[in-house]
Amino acid sequence: MTTRTPETDLGRTRRARRIGRALTETHPDAHCELDHSNALELAVATILSAQCTDKKVNEVTPKLFARYRTAADYAGADRAELEELIRPTGFYRNKTSSLINLGRELCERYGGEVPGKLADLVTLPGIGRKTANVILGNAFGVPGITVDTHFQRLVQRWRLTDETDPVKIEHAIGALYPKRDWTMLSHRIIFHGRRVCHARKPACGACTLVKLCPSYGTGPTDPVAAVKLLKGPRARDLAAAVGIDPDLVPQQAAAADVP
Ligand code: SF4
Repeated sequence: MTTRTPETDLGRTRRARRIGRALTETHPDAHCELDHSNALELAVATILSAQCTDKKVNEVTPKLFARYRTAADYAGADRAELEELIRPTGFYRNKTSSLINLGRELCERYGGEVPGKLADLVTLPGIGRKTANVILGNAFGVPGITVDTHFQRLVQRWRLTDETDPVKIEHAIGALYPKRDWTMLSHRIIFHGRRVCHARKPACGACTLVKLCPSYGTGPTDPVAAVKLLKGPRARDLAAAVGIDPDLVPQQAAAADVP
C-alpha cells in the first residue's frame, strides 16, 4: 500500500486554479440558468427555483413577468391569481406568500427597488444567502459564490475544502480564487454538476477533470458507460472534449433536462 503525501495549501490552490481553467474550457456556455432581465425578475425566479428545476421556472416566468412588472405589483397581487400562475413550480402557497411579502418589503423599505447589498438582501422574505449571492453576481455585477447542492458536492469531491456548512464553504472556496472570478466560477461548477458530475452516478470516464480530481472512479470510468451519463444540449461537445466519439452520446442524453 502506498501512502500519499498530504497536499499543501499551495498545492491545493494551484489545483483549484487548474480546475477553474479546465471548467472555463469545458463549459464556455455557463451562465445563470434562470431567465431574467432585471434584479426583481431574478429575485422572483430564484424564490420560485426552490425545490424546482430552472427549466420549469423558465416556463412559468414569461407570463408571470408580463403580469407583474414591479415590486408594487407583487405587493398588491391577488393571491389566488398569483398562486395559479406559479403552481407548476411546487410549494406554490409558500412561494406566493414570499413573493407578496417581498413586494411589500421592497416598497416599504427600499422604494420598490431590489437593494444591491448582501446585508440588505438577506433580510428580505424568501431570500437567503445563496439567493442573495445569485442576485448580486448576476444582476449587480458584484462577485458572489453560490453554494447550492451541486457546488457543495463538487468542491467536496475535489477535496478543496472539508467544510460542510455552506457559509464556511463559500469563504473557503472564495480564498482559492480571485474575487472577480467568483460568479462565473459558480456557474461553471454548477454546470459541471448538472451535466457531468452527477450526485448518484458521475460521468468520470467522460470528465475533463480526470487528472485533477481525487474522486475519479466515484462513477463509471469506462468511456462507453460514462458517455451515456452526460446531459444537456452540449453532451456531444463534452464527449469530444475528452476524445470520445460524440456519436456514442445517446440522443436522449443530449435532449435530457439538466437537474
Ligand atoms: S472525475 Fe468523476 S468525481 Fe471527479 S469531477 Fe469528474 S465526474 Fe466528478
